[in-house]
Amino acid sequence: MIETTPRRSTALTGLVIVAAVTSFGLTACAADQTDAAAPPGTPHGKSSGGGKGLPGAADGKLPAGTSAFDTDLPGIGKLDPELRKAVQQAEKAMKADGIPMQVTTGWRSKKYQIELMDKAIKQYGSREKAKKYVADPDESHHVTGHAVDIGPTNADDWLIRKGNRYGLCQTYSNEIWHFELVTTPGGDCPPMTTPS
Ligand SMILES: [Zn+2]
Repeated sequence: MIETTPRRSTALTGLVIVAAVTSFGLTACAADQTDAAAPPGTPHGKSSGGGKGLPGAADGKLPAGTSAFDTDLPGIGKLDPELRKAVQQAEKAMKADGIPMQVTTGWRSKKYQIELMDKAIKQYGSREKAKKYVADPDESHHVTGHAVDIGPTNADDWLIRKGNRYGLCQTYSNEIWHFELVTTPGGDCPPMTTPS
């Protein structure tokens, strides 16, 4: 965890989002995996965060503790319905196994992805290097609503072992938290992609 710890305040939701986005980590997904936008229990803000041109809830930014059933949040509501249903089923099954699961990133806007890419370019020095860590805005499966990032790590472990029951698979070898609907329920997961 490398993020700042934002104070709980509905009025400051926009600022909290700014703080969380600023804490950009190793990858586009990692950033969302590790930056808790707000403590659990914070009301799901609907702040667009767009006033200052920064990504907010309307761009898919999710508060800590987001469930796959929180369809009022654009980050969940704009997911591919089939993917969302599969993640909801997995979340229920995990809960029955005593493992709390949260969606750290679901759908996110192209603007949000561009923001992540811009930060990565600054951090790594070139678009070429940044692309190893952040999907291009035109290629990100989060932007199309076909990918979710799941946490915490024990939930990732569970999904890696049992996600295929719901068609969910880890698709990048370097991202244990990133899952997509890429097989049929009970089917085998396809080989993972390894960024070069
Ligand atoms: Zn991801």
